[in-house]
Amino acid sequence: MTDSKTEDVREALIVPPGQPFQLASRNPDAKPLFRDKDGAEESCKEDAKAIDRLQDELYAEGRRALLVVLQGIDTAGKSGTIKSVFAETGPMGVSVTAFGKPSEAELARDYLWRINAALPAKGTIGIFDRSHYEDVLVVRVRELAPREDIERRYAQINEFERRLVENGVVILKFMLHISFEEQGKRLRARLEDPCKRWKFNPADLDDRARWDQYQAAYDIALERCSTPHAPWYVVPSDSKTRRNALIARIVRRTLEDMAPEPPDPGFKLEDYPIR
Ligand code: AMP
Ligand code: MG
Repeated sequence: MTDSKTEDVREALIVPPGQPFQLASRNPDAKPLFRDKDGAEESCKEDAKAIDRLQDELYAEGRRALLVVLQGIDTAGKSGTIKSVFAETGPMGVSVTAFGKPSEAELARDYLWRINAALPAKGTIGIFDRSHYEDVLVVRVRELAPREDIERRYAQINEFERRLVENGVVILKFMLHISFEEQGKRLRARLEDPCKRWKFNPADLDDRARWDQYQAAYDIALERCSTPHAPWYVVPSDSKTRRNALIARIVRRTLEDMAPEPPDPGFKLEDYPIR
């Protein structure tokens, strides 16, 4: 029960590289690790503090970066996740980039151009709210590029991510998995609650009408692009509290595994007596 403090949940959520994969095999309401909500909330807060401390060490080390990619259908909770998981991280240590519809300037370049420009600097954590994966998700579903071009992108993305990893960027990719019913509830809440109404976008309903096509596009992307160097994790996200706790835990464990080490200062303490 209380092994939630130490247990590693990555194994339960990873999309095993090189194997057939279907989202339908994962329960969006699964409760691995955190059975009770209060425990999940507590754990997320603790992990958020640890993430802040580890990011400081990453900065002191100055050699590597962490890139956190968040994908999910509307209302899956990408921005809620960012608020909770990085609630304690100093603003200087993180960069958040939301990728919406490409601008004219972006459309005039290849799809990785804007992604490259947003990569985190060494010592920092970069968070992507949507990402280059939109170029094989919405672009596939809405047929915004020729199918042959899209088919080539999976391998291009794997190569791109490999290049980053080989240059000191550790990559975590989270698919926030919610059910059709849960999305319905959240969209209704957006419409009914005056404080949330601004978040409602009628285009979200067009995407909802293409639910099955999106799920299929995710199946392909997750299967082809979960690699040993940059694995995908599918996070059950019908419960917001548990979703946050699971992601915070994986981010924390990943930073702990990176074990950032501040460089040797190269001087002796006794040479600098401070009077
Ligand atoms: P939101 O995240 O709710 O602000 O919405 C951003 C919108 O931009 C979503 O509808 C995405 O599908 C869309 N979007 C993001 N990236 C791309 C892309 N590469 N091509 C077309 N649409 C995109
Ligand atoms: Mg939206």
